[in-house]
Amino acid sequence: MSDDHGTIESLSSLAHETPDTYPPSAEFRAQANQNNSEIYLRAAADPEGYWAEQARTRLTWTKPFTEVLDWTNPPFAKWFQDGELNVAANCLDRHVANGLGDRVAIHFEGEPGDSRSITYAELTYEVKRAANMLTSLGVTAGDRVAIYMPMIPETIISMLAVARLGAAHSVVFGGFSAESLRARIDDAEAELVITADGGYRKGRVSPLKPVVDQALELDDADGKPSTVKHVLVVQRGKNDITMESGRDLWWHEEITAYDGEHQAQGFPAENPLFILYTSGTTGRPKGILHTSGGYLTQVTTTHSDVFDLKPESDVWWCTADVGWVTGHSYIVYGPLANGATQVVYEGTPDTPDWGRWWEIIQKYGVTTFYTAPTAIRSFMKVGRQVPEKYDLSSIRLLGSVGEPINPEAWRWYHEVIGASQVPIVDTWWQTETGAIMVAPLPGLTSLKPGSSQIAQPGIAVSVLDESGDKVDRGQGGLLVVERPWPAMVRTIWGDDQRFIDTYWEKFGDKYFAGDGARLDEDGDVWFMGRVDDVMNVSGHRLSTTEIESALVGHHAVAEAAVVGADDETTGQAVVAFVILKSQQQLLTEAEAEAELKKHVASHIGAIARPRNVFVVNELPKTRSGKIMRRLLKDAAEGRTIGDTTTLADTMVMQTISDRVVAER
Ligand code: ATP
Ligand code: MG
Repeated sequence: MSDDHGTIESLSSLAHETPDTYPPSAEFRAQANQNNSEIYLRAAADPEGYWAEQARTRLTWTKPFTEVLDWTNPPFAKWFQDGELNVAANCLDRHVANGLGDRVAIHFEGEPGDSRSITYAELTYEVKRAANMLTSLGVTAGDRVAIYMPMIPETIISMLAVARLGAAHSVVFGGFSAESLRARIDDAEAELVITADGGYRKGRVSPLKPVVDQALELDDADGKPSTVKHVLVVQRGKNDITMESGRDLWWHEEITAYDGEHQAQGFPAENPLFILYTSGTTGRPKGILHTSGGYLTQVTTTHSDVFDLKPESDVWWCTADVGWVTGHSYIVYGPLANGATQVVYEGTPDTPDWGRWWEIIQKYGVTTFYTAPTAIRSFMKVGRQVPEKYDLSSIRLLGSVGEPINPEAWRWYHEVIGASQVPIVDTWWQTETGAIMVAPLPGLTSLKPGSSQIAQPGIAVSVLDESGDKVDRGQGGLLVVERPWPAMVRTIWGDDQRFIDTYWEKFGDKYFAGDGARLDEDGDVWFMGRVDDVMNVSGHRLSTTEIESALVGHHAVAEAAVVGADDETTGQAVVAFVILKSQQQLLTEAEAEAELKKHVASHIGAIARPRNVFVVNELPKTRSGKIMRRLLKDAAEGRTIGDTTTLADTMVMQTISDRVVAER
């Protein structure tokens, strides 16, 4: 059983569990955008032809491309490189020209309860004015603009205005500190920062402009001042801020000088569109560079096919923050290029109470809804009585992204939010992939809770062992992407070598994603957690995801994180951290610990039985909501806690280390 190839063992084969499957209903299938499985074969036979067709039919080019893919200098891909387009005009002007100007693009819902619906015509007008304003501030093609904003329409307007000018944005999530913001401004050498005075979070104004001031006052590594010349400030929170004269400008004062006349120019397909840093779950964030034509092709295709988008009737809602790639691809570029109507919500799901999201769905008649397992688990913890108070009958499709979705969370989502009827698409992708890579097509795939299942048409993924051979069905290993894809990362900004080392060292011209995965007997893909997090217990390589899913499968558990900690006898031992559901907190910790150890042993096998189970109130998460297992491992092994710059709440780790130390 021991394996020398470093592959991840199939624990499910020990558990002998046959997953339940959910085939598409006849009605859903009949109306689905993709309901003929030949698409997979056709795309596999000629992937470049498939993507060229998507690029030609879904986008408007100012100069058509003749060349599809240039892969002569791997790993630096060029897609559609002799073509030209304007990304913002694809999201705006062309819809207005097609008579869709009156369609609502954005239903904005502010946290304090203010709301505003913006049509495509209005959004186009605002972006044109903003583009004129940015031009007069000196922004031209090739420049970088940092955006540090709350979730308000001006954030999207700013991104599109930057893109319209052929410049690149670097959106920094509004929860990041002055140091993190400054590091990202310096890395991109941005000359303009767009921010707001503050935004609403958890019922109060969270200041942003003061953080920008602080960031710009810091000396950079070589003691040089920042490259920033101007800070443009949107008024939102009405909190007190200081404006430095000559440098800082109010958006609402500046914008009045500009009209809505602006002719969008075409830029080469490989023109940079944005730089975005990864979540930092496994280490120092990487500045991922995305370009224009290929990126827009794949985000529009996947937004339409995976979410079965009907732009004329759907109300789309992706709950991500625009500071993450999910917000870039499935709030800004995919939905707007597809002419969709969507909800944008500023605040947190628990403000003023845990009913807020469901109330928004009811209010706008949201049809297609995309969120993260971390949110679903929070709602499970609070209980189904909250969403059950609202009318969610408009929902016809649900999506998940960010982490593996535990089967128990999948079933809850399906039953409580999806009325036991609607399909759930579990979408695997990364900041680096730019767009969805592995996910069901809801009109075609028989869904399996916990599995992302199948690569998108035109995408080829494999699961390899350490030596680069494909594993058999039923086996685990390392996920790779076989061929270049249109929305792929072009490099790590300013660091080609790190790009090569991180993703291409291991398997040559195959992209190494850093995630473990297993193929089941049908060839479907199950993500098993980060390769960095794989545990080795007495020579058995165990997956964090499967043990966590077993724990979450216990009726008392809301959330779980599992790490491998040094152990004298077994090499590594399984250490689990669990949050109990609100109504289960009467269970004593000792009872919970004994019960959960037994539960894992009986569901997966004695080898996976945790050495420790710690009951905690919170888990350390990145600001995008992902569990940071490397910090838990530090705590479990009694080390000082590592780099916590991307941690949402640094106090959480202190509480957990104290808890672990007390046990020793
Ligand atoms: P860093 O690369 O800095 O450690 P990160 O990987 O968390 O940060 P992202 O690009 O935001 O940054 O996240 C991509 C990762 O999220 C994937 O590699 C995978 O581990 C996880 N992920 C995303 N969606 C899914 C999914 N549907 N199923 C399983 N894992 C997922
Ligand atoms: Mg990553």
